[in-house]
Amino acid sequence: MEDWINAGKIAGECLNYGCDIAKPGITLLELAEKIEGRIKELGAKPAFPVNLSLNSMAAHYTPSADDKTVFGDEDILKIDVGVHVNGHIGDTARTLGKDANLIKASEDALNAAIQLCVPGVKLREIGKVIANAISDHNFISIRNLSGHGITTFNLHSGISIPNYDNGDEDQLKEGQIIAIEPFATNGSSGRVAEGKPSGIYKLARVKPVRDPAARKMLSFIANEYSSLPFASRWLEKDFPKAKFLMQVLFREGILRSYPQLYESSKGNVSQAEHTILIKEKPVILTKI
Ligand code: MN
Ligand code: MN
Repeated sequence: MEDWINAGKIAGECLNYGCDIAKPGITLLELAEKIEGRIKELGAKPAFPVNLSLNSMAAHYTPSADDKTVFGDEDILKIDVGVHVNGHIGDTARTLGKDANLIKASEDALNAAIQLCVPGVKLREIGKVIANAISDHNFISIRNLSGHGITTFNLHSGISIPNYDNGDEDQLKEGQIIAIEPFATNGSSGRVAEGKPSGIYKLARVKPVRDPAARKMLSFIANEYSSLPFASRWLEKDFPKAKFLMQVLFREGILRSYPQLYESSKGNVSQAEHTILIKEKPVILTKI
């Protein structure tokens, strides 16, 4: 339990730090590297590359090693931070920038949902409360993104926590650790579509590789990241030809690649997220 508590606390601190330094004009690359650097300074590791998704990009945008994108005055920015301590994960997100109402919609939805995080509550009930809180602000909830169960070294494990009433009668259980993450949009579709590759990868399966350099990279990935997502940007620091070698591993089915996810009608998107321990009185692990 101690590692879960530490991971949540460090994730919350690093999200606060990111929100403090994310002033318009900063590049997403500088912001990501500073947040990931702070995670390591605090003695933990990123559980996934910091996601910094602008405007209609809902999730899975992390800057590439040569990214020049700037957080501008007119932008809405989602900062999503994951931290792990010995595989125990804290996952938390907040939205900054333009459109205070849209930002408040996902925050209100998260707070309403957290009140329900006690044993015996049906997952559909959480989804219903989230969708209603967002529609109270005259926005819509993104239905094909959801929260998730978390277990050691497994960011998306077991249950999905819906962002609408999806009819799921399964119930929360005492001791479960879950992430709740409502997404609100002013777009018309309320769905995300898959865009370009994000530069975020994860190890899908280990199998023999002929190329010695690719084999060396595979063993580094397995040791360093285990089954957690990582960024191409990280490997480019340590491996010459990193992009080429990652393509080799991807073609072999060893790596999985994540696409960027954007709201399909190009509406703006806000997100709020906490990691929660299910108890009679829910514990918000990522709250500082
Ligand atoms: Mn997250
Ligand atoms: Mn999450």
